[in-house]
Amino acid sequence: MEDIKKGKTYDIQGFSVQDGPGIRTTVFLKGCPLRCPWCHSPESQEFKTELNWMQIRCIGIEACGKCLSACPKGLITKGELTQNAAGEDIYYPVVDKSSCDECGACAKVCKPDALYMCGTDMSVDEVMHRLLRDKPFFDESGGGVTVSGGECLCQPEFTLELLKRCKAEGIHTAVDTTGYVPYRVIESVLPYTDLFLYDLKCMDSKLHKQVIGVPNELILENAVKIAKAGGHMQIRIPVIPLFNDNEEHFKLYADFLMGIKDAVDLVQLLPYHTLGISKHDRLLKNEKIFVAEPPSDELMQSLCKQLSDYGFNVKIH
Ligand code: SF4
Ligand code: SF4
Repeated sequence: MEDIKKGKTYDIQGFSVQDGPGIRTTVFLKGCPLRCPWCHSPESQEFKTELNWMQIRCIGIEACGKCLSACPKGLITKGELTQNAAGEDIYYPVVDKSSCDECGACAKVCKPDALYMCGTDMSVDEVMHRLLRDKPFFDESGGGVTVSGGECLCQPEFTLELLKRCKAEGIHTAVDTTGYVPYRVIESVLPYTDLFLYDLKCMDSKLHKQVIGVPNELILENAVKIAKAGGHMQIRIPVIPLFNDNEEHFKLYADFLMGIKDAVDLVQLLPYHTLGISKHDRLLKNEKIFVAEPPSDELMQSLCKQLSDYGFNVKIH
């Protein structure tokens, strides 16, 4: 059968132990309808293939500078004198992303891949070819494949086909989702999804919209519908300073989760960390980045206990 559906991926990671049971291979799809200021994979947000730059790989304009003349629009110029990680003087390129059409000409001439294009169109066959290499590890460990993002259900046809093919190969499947998609999309993948990794970022819809850009009603409704349809979920709660990191907010989580308790296999608490900050630089964006002190171990333990006391299996990651 001809495989015509292509998905836009930005990574496929083997040997993951964070994205569901056992050893897993996670397929990351590009594009997300949410804009979490603490996003640890900002390269996943845009639906298109885009130019990234990794400072640590760049050897500088004096030693190289090939990108300066590669851009047909003249968008790359020599930046101010600065220091590299070794404390040596260096001039890095500056890219005017406001007029960039992501043509990739600069990335082509950048030998150390400091400039690189993020986003690869792959067929289901190509992804399956990669995944099947890891099948012995899935079988040995009780693992499988996790389709993640971005929001993988924003590429519904590709994700559905990929899940179907995994199930046909006897592979355990997980879908990592924000839940912010029409329920009909979730309903279509449900028969081929052993587990949903389901994000609940905030229980206050107004705050959810104010900070993340969309309200949370659809997300909560979809979680209830998955539970009613017999689906299984690992609920993922990012613990974010000044957003949801307090006892009152966790009481709201507990009240909601009690209504879908039979469907919740595990609650994962994901403490805020600062890994996403350097990645934002790579995207050559001038956006404001959310920076805060990560929650303390004591606070994480206390929030963990609060939900455990309701009878949930809770883990801190
Ligand atoms: S990707 Fe953007 S910056 Fe690079 S060559 Fe093309 S237009 Fe210029
Ligand atoms: S071509 Fe690459 S390594 Fe060379 S200066 Fe440009 S970004 Fe740096």
